[in-house]
Amino acid sequence: MYKTNAWKTYDEAQRKALEAFNDGYRAFLDQGKTERECVEASVKIAKARHFRDLDEILCENGALKAGDRVYKNWMGKCFMAFVVGSDPLEKGMNILGAHIDSPRLDIKQNPLFEDQGLCYLDTHYYGGIKKYQWLALPLALHGVAVKKNGEKVVIALGEEAEDMVFAISDLLPHLAQEQMGKNAAKLIDGEALNILIGSEPGTEEKEPVKKRILDLLRDRYGLEEEDLVSAELEAVPAGRARELGLDRSMILGYGHDDRVCAYPSLMALADYEGTPERTLCAVLTDKEEIGSVGATGMGAFYFENTVAELLNLCGQYSELKLRRMLQNSLMLSSDVSAAFDPSFAGVFEKNNAAYLGMGVCFNKYTGSRGKSGSSDANAEFVACIRKIMDDNGVCFQTAELGRVDAGGGGTIAYLCARYAMNVIDCGVPVLSMHAPWETVSKADVYEAYKCYRAFLKDAGK
Ligand code: MN
Ligand code: MN
Repeated sequence: MYKTNAWKTYDEAQRKALEAFNDGYRAFLDQGKTERECVEASVKIAKARHFRDLDEILCENGALKAGDRVYKNWMGKCFMAFVVGSDPLEKGMNILGAHIDSPRLDIKQNPLFEDQGLCYLDTHYYGGIKKYQWLALPLALHGVAVKKNGEKVVIALGEEAEDMVFAISDLLPHLAQEQMGKNAAKLIDGEALNILIGSEPGTEEKEPVKKRILDLLRDRYGLEEEDLVSAELEAVPAGRARELGLDRSMILGYGHDDRVCAYPSLMALADYEGTPERTLCAVLTDKEEIGSVGATGMGAFYFENTVAELLNLCGQYSELKLRRMLQNSLMLSSDVSAAFDPSFAGVFEKNNAAYLGMGVCFNKYTGSRGKSGSSDANAEFVACIRKIMDDNGVCFQTAELGRVDAGGGGTIAYLCARYAMNVIDCGVPVLSMHAPWETVSKADVYEAYKCYRAFLKDAGK
């Protein structure tokens, strides 16, 4: 049942294309360690492929027509791009959606403190993490601090070979008798996730190490301690994505969830040439890992607002046409799947699990318990998808998120389904999902790209 090892299907030329695409993906991962950095990288790619900034077109009182390529940067944390089709827009779009936020440790608003001659940054974890995995690991700091005058200071420390890194200490096994008896959730307290940032005292009497760190922040970035109140700094695993395995068949990287779907979605649209009939769209959203909330989450109206602007710029706007356009759209809500892990076979059901190297994975539904919180795709739509994949020689598989009642999770699918459009969850299988370093198969990354290209080209025909 739809389980072909993708590696076995490639000829020389396809192997080359696969490697080239994965090189691009690794570069994207290295440039985009935060949602903001992913948006910057996406804008760069879009501009190079002749997409114009929607906000600039609005400023110029411009207009759009079939074949035009536009992008929209929303708050620096979400990215949307469109290729305008020749059909009336109310006939709907082919949409690729993915998220670009990943689990991490956010730095608190009042983060700096000194204790026994060590200076720390206090953190609040973001998304579903196993806290113990973030100890004794080189961490990088990425983000922005915004001063009262609006000046934005961009920070990215810990990625270059000569950069310093940061770390959270763990307890030595010799003294961990009590700790080792605790269950994994309690192994480390959320409030103990403090990042070591300095140890050399300055000349002051009180808090000399913290004072010295503040001097360094002032000298290097012109930042005062109060400026950290209006900062968004994220601690992420330091270092680049790497090829994994003696055969180099996999990629070990931070934030595959969900940049491994975001990058192929973006590239499938960017690589589209010519004028499509249906309008094509890629949306890369923020805040999925904490429930798609906030002004940059898929639950906000930024996507609908941008689609309304698009209709208006095409001279086709009405409230009714906007509703029709959204309702008549078809969407791949792309998010990672849990890859079958032989070391933890008990939480999977073998016939309905995703396997590394078997291609892009469709989840008709996700959710927990009795499918709670899922967006269950219609059988009719799944049939259309099967046909598109088979017609275009895409290796794909179908899966559930683990055994029934083993746990569960959700995606952005149900939020887009509110417009009554057909949506299905789809994505790349990942080992060690939500760990600081996650693993994917290069073959699955490539099949995702092939899948998204095929969907843009053929969906709705
Ligand atoms: Mn995800
Ligand atoms: Mn996730």
